[in-house]
Amino acid sequence: MLRSAFLYLSEQQQIFKFVRNNKLAKSFANRFVAGETLESALGAVARLNAAGITASLDLLGESVHNEAEARVAGQAYVNMLDRIYERKLDANVSVKLTAMGLDISEDLCVTTMHKVLQRAREYRTFVRIDMESSEYTQRTLDLFEQRLYPAYRENVGIVLQSYLFRTYADVEHANLTKARVRICKGAYKEPDTVAYPDKKDVDTSYIRCMHALMQYGNYPGIATHDEAMIKEAKRFAKENHIAHDRFEFQMLYRSARSGIHI
Ligand SMILES: Cc1cc2nc3c(=O)[nH]c(=O)nc-3n(C[C@H](O)[C@H](O)[C@H](O)COP(=O)(O)OP(=O)(O)OC[C@H]3O[C@@H](n4cnc5c(N)ncnc54)[C@H](O)[C@@H]3O)c2cc1C
Repeated sequence: MLRSAFLYLSEQQQIFKFVRNNKLAKSFANRFVAGETLESALGAVARLNAAGITASLDLLGESVHNEAEARVAGQAYVNMLDRIYERKLDANVSVKLTAMGLDISEDLCVTTMHKVLQRAREYRTFVRIDMESSEYTQRTLDLFEQRLYPAYRENVGIVLQSYLFRTYADVEHANLTKARVRICKGAYKEPDTVAYPDKKDVDTSYIRCMHALMQYGNYPGIATHDEAMIKEAKRFAKENHIAHDRFEFQMLYRSARSGIHI
């Protein structure tokens, strides 16, 4: 049932420099980063594929500062899709809209994303739009729904975070539009005006969202390392006769390779 792992590939120079030169940071980063170059990350993908695991590659580094940087980042994703296709790997990509120019202009971001999505469509593969901090949630969902999803229904999906109060409503909406969703708990430090401060509430929300996606959603990605969530997904699938090919589990690199019992 373990179908997907999530690989991070860092090309952001400052982070790179720090990680390369700092022993502690390097050993921490190696837990999650599949490779410092595209080729080494693709090698990691090939090893995962051989173990029956699909991968999603993410080029690390969030906001870009000008149009040229956004175009370079977009082109890096196009190259990544080309190499995945050439090597016949079972992998897709995950992308942050701020890396595609969202902070500079929405039109730039859409133009950059069109290039990535057109290539993904040619190869019949998939692009997941990562979710960033809550200041981007509405913008990300609007841009997805109004400007990308209508043109690339089969090739693009989103991420929702169970720590936000709003998320169950977003899940219900995504189920109506049949958009593909990855559900995660959420990784950013958020104020208690928008997000549950207590882990138990985040977990309760996660289970509620996960159930709704499994029952009514379009092939949800259940992204977690929490064995209690994984166990609950399996129990819920069995109880409701939800076939294993209607959803997938997703984990960060290494967690998927080495530890968690699915
Ligand atoms: C595939 C994937 C994609 C993601 N995409 C996004 C995104 O787009 N936006 C976003 O905000 N967040 C994203 N996240 C991060 C997510 O929101 C959480 O911050 C993170 O996954 C930790 O939550 P958890 O569900 O694993 O459970 P937690 O409750 O945090 O942890 C449960 C247990 O898992 C262990 N654990 C936590 N992390 C790891 C790990 N890396 N390896 C092994 N064990 C671990 C903990 O020690 C704990 O025992 C993603 C996570 C995954 C797995």
